[in-house]
Amino acid sequence: MIEVEAYRQVTDRAVGRTVTAVVAPDAWYLKGGTTAGALRAAVTGQRVTGTRRIGKLLLVDTGGPTLGLRFGMTGRLLVDGQGPIEKLEYSSGRHDPAWVRFGLRFADGGDLQMVDPRRLGGVQLEPDLGHLGPDALTLRLTQVRDRLRARRVPLKAWLLDQARVAGIGNLLADEILWRAGLDPARPAGSLDPEEAKGLHRHIGGTIRLLTNRGGSHTGDLQVARRRGATCPRDGTPLQRRTIGGRTTYSCPVHQR
Ligand SMILES: [Zn+2]
Repeated sequence: MIEVEAYRQVTDRAVGRTVTAVVAPDAWYLKGGTTAGALRAAVTGQRVTGTRRIGKLLLVDTGGPTLGLRFGMTGRLLVDGQGPIEKLEYSSGRHDPAWVRFGLRFADGGDLQMVDPRRLGGVQLEPDLGHLGPDALTLRLTQVRDRLRARRVPLKAWLLDQARVAGIGNLLADEILWRAGLDPARPAGSLDPEEAKGLHRHIGGTIRLLTNRGGSHTGDLQVARRRGATCPRDGTPLQRRTIGGRTTYSCPVHQR
């Protein structure tokens, strides 16, 4: 979500501009039944009116429909050939025209491009927002408590479930739990009120810290994400497990 927020800010440069052409060369990249023909018919001639972000989903509002953009692991966004500040572009900075999966051309001659070497992202017309939980950055403590209550899923899986909290990916989840001192395998419903408060504080605090540092890959635990690594806090050999279907690193001593 940290990267997506940076892309949302870049997309703000498209606001007020009129779309004269839609570039959609890759049918695989169009999701939820969206077709190139439907995109062209719906968006051509429309003015971009605003941008929003919910979790990892970037929404581009037009005078007509809303476009939903997802970036996966390797997607990037350029407006008029420019992306976010350089430090955020940790995926390949190389630009191969074949990697442009989607684009909008504007009446003033500029354009918006989604560049995605591995095609893990996608574009959808009028994406369904009903299945997304509140955005992790604006999550309130009461929402955390309500969503933890009686849940048996491991904390790590709880954090990754976009229907509960939107915007937390694998690296961010591990960093949050490492900072909060919570075992990723613990049932979400087992947190006492103080622990829930700490989790809430570390969700917002970790996102803000890594945003300032330049991306979700800049966490302290990131350097330790390899076999045989030790906890940056106390030097204990880290535990590597698969939790919630994802590779999870945690400290068996200070994460309880
Ligand atoms: Zn530790």
